[in-house]
Amino acid sequence: MSRQMNEMIEEAERDLLHTYNRYPLVLDRGDGVYLYDSDGRKYLDFMAGIAVFAFGYNNREFNDALKYQIGKIIHTSNYFYNEPAIRAAHRLKELSGMDRVFFTNSGAESNEGALKAAMKYACAKDGRNDHEVIAMHHSFHGRTYGALSVTGNDRYRRSFGPMACNVRFAELNDFDSVEALVNDRTCAVILEAVQGEGGLVPAEEAFLTRVRALCDERDILLIMDEVQCGMGRTGYMFAWQKYGVKPDIMSCAKALGCGVPVGAFLMTERAAARSLAAGDHGTTYGGNPFACAAVNKVLDLFEEMELVKHVRELTPYFESKLDGLVVKYKSVRERRGAGLMQGLVFDRPVGGIIGDAMKHGLILINAGSDILRFVPPLIITEREIDEMLSILEPAIAREEEKNRE
Ligand SMILES: *Cc1c(COP(=O)(O)O)cnc(C)c1O
Repeated sequence: MSRQMNEMIEEAERDLLHTYNRYPLVLDRGDGVYLYDSDGRKYLDFMAGIAVFAFGYNNREFNDALKYQIGKIIHTSNYFYNEPAIRAAHRLKELSGMDRVFFTNSGAESNEGALKAAMKYACAKDGRNDHEVIAMHHSFHGRTYGALSVTGNDRYRRSFGPMACNVRFAELNDFDSVEALVNDRTCAVILEAVQGEGGLVPAEEAFLTRVRALCDERDILLIMDEVQCGMGRTGYMFAWQKYGVKPDIMSCAKALGCGVPVGAFLMTERAAARSLAAGDHGTTYGGNPFACAAVNKVLDLFEEMELVKHVRELTPYFESKLDGLVVKYKSVRERRGAGLMQGLVFDRPVGGIIGDAMKHGLILINAGSDILRFVPPLIITEREIDEMLSILEPAIAREEEKNRE
């Protein structure tokens, strides 16, 4: 590492709140599926800014669309209408089959809105203010208080005092565990169709179908968090579309803005009619013309590049290659996930492998300490998968060798 990069990192560690153990890299620019650090070193990116950069970095058309919008207006507040937001909302409705859209600035904020909508929906029915949410163990919904309340990971919640809503945790893919928690105060079930941070665990179709039926029976809203598994990542525009189980409310972010901070929550007309009304919810930035110009161009590029189809076509190749590692390396226990959202479960912490791969020009992340997570840009091809493996395999082999000594 150059002295300059080292100095930047030291300065960052003096000035920024230390809430992340960052990798010792200053990233400077990106191009396609490659990233460059401030010393000019090149990395193949299989992380995509945590499942964000669907079509890779420095996309000319995307950059031009943002510049065009900057030249017109980037912010209006929600006291006015703006054309990019109107268009983006319409297109998201068409893609999802949902009826109403609220734009936010992040995934956590999208879940906040979704939870408030569910609380209001239940309150409008029975006038009570003590409703409960059922969430899943090992889920991740964000770091703000409402989103944190329904995040099924004690490590993120402990030390932060009372949570923002009453929540009970069930087990994903265990219907009985959900049903057992339902009572007359339950207002919502929130879950991810494919758990991301929790370890790349897909929901089973029978489970989702039964949860949907239970929610219908008891007039409980089903919230699906599509922040990570949405936007084409699993080979469907939204992961729930694979199951034919439609949520009442869904949240979205990450790849929605492909680097521009924007999120959304969407709901059916039935949920909207009896939940958030004028004055119930708001945001200064959410849905501003700059963020929504990004959304519109993201959706254009998804169409033009046929990204969802591409993911579906590439998945068998990716899965077979990862399955090959399970067979070949004894430290690799299992592959799981969907589409270009995959995990390799190891019998040991994966930090050493990630560090080794990074030294050799490959960027990967973990999900929990023992799982390698693959969430590459959706534009990768078989060639980049092979390139990734040519760096990852020796890293796994070296890690196994190291532990043997
Ligand atoms: C990343 C993530 C969030 C939080 O999104 P932020 O934009 O970081 O607030 C919420 N839910 C899921 C499933 C995520 O992966």
